[in-house]
Amino acid sequence: MLTLSETAAALQGAAKVVITAHVNPDGDAIGSSLGLMHLLRALGKDVTVLLDDDIPAAFSVLPGYDVIERPREGEAIACDVFVILDTMSDRIGGTSGAVRARRILNIDHHHTNTGTAGEELYLDGTRAATAEIIYDLAGALGVRPDAAAAACLYTGLATDTGFFRFSNATAHTYRAAADLLEAGAEPHVISEALEVRPLQTVRDLAEALSQMELFADGKACGIFLTQAQTARMASTESFIGHIRVIDGVDVAVVLKCKEPELCRVSMRSKRVDVSRIAASFGGGGHVRAAGCTLTQPFAEAKQTIMDAIARAIREDWTA
Ligand code: 5GP
Ligand code: MN
Ligand code: MN
Repeated sequence: MLTLSETAAALQGAAKVVITAHVNPDGDAIGSSLGLMHLLRALGKDVTVLLDDDIPAAFSVLPGYDVIERPREGEAIACDVFVILDTMSDRIGGTSGAVRARRILNIDHHHTNTGTAGEELYLDGTRAATAEIIYDLAGALGVRPDAAAAACLYTGLATDTGFFRFSNATAHTYRAAADLLEAGAEPHVISEALEVRPLQTVRDLAEALSQMELFADGKACGIFLTQAQTARMASTESFIGHIRVIDGVDVAVVLKCKEPELCRVSMRSKRVDVSRIAASFGGGGHVRAAGCTLTQPFAEAKQTIMDAIARAIREDWTA
């Protein structure tokens, strides 16, 4: 495990840096990647951000959105330091094969991150977002975030805390946010841009809500999307927030069937440790927000996750 100053020193000593984050990138993955890019460019480094996925258009409000690249098959970028953010290296898609680095740094806030051989880990599970760690890192690097870095890092803080409402938002998170505002981040511009949805996504939400199912004596609620629905729906990330608020529901789950025998699971909770449920299937995350992949057909995967959640509630798997 690296210290923050060792992490800063590794970056300070690099001329060429490649940054990546997890597939299906969220506000923290994108915000922390672009935020770190702006900080390192201010220090004169040559920086590339590589993400192996489509970047939702809503994030075009972030300075640097246009320079994000996708890894190209058969082409490897050589660099001094390769930085993996907001995940272990098992969720970066084709980026792992597209970079040749002297050192690999993994910077994350997921307590389920166990580290990877050959990589150097800086993990701070007390931080609400990887962007909050990048904010700490700016201090260790002695660089003040400019307005571009501030907007990106603020976005990571805001999105991973449900806009400062979840229990992971600490006094440090709020202080970091205040400091980023002084550096030029504009919360209303960012939240308005991130709230915009295509009409079809709201229609998809209505369809999803119409088929939600309560289980575990009403303590859990799930939306289970077949492969056809998953393929048709462009954006489903917001769905889970609409069922986690139901009175009496501890665990909310959204299951999406992506391939005949591959289903993605997202979970949110008020009490139960859903990272433990996710970890039991090889996934991970946080106590109140976690996910995993089940390599089963739709109906079986649905039963598997319902049984696991019901058991966790019955046996009171709290952190
Ligand atoms: P989401 O439900 O928004 O996709 O993910 C919730 C949290 O769990 C996020 O912090 C995310 O990084 C983590 N997570 C989701 N899926 C996985 C997974 O398959 N593996 C691991 N290790 N973490 C996951
Ligand atoms: Mn993330
Ligand atoms: Mn995060």
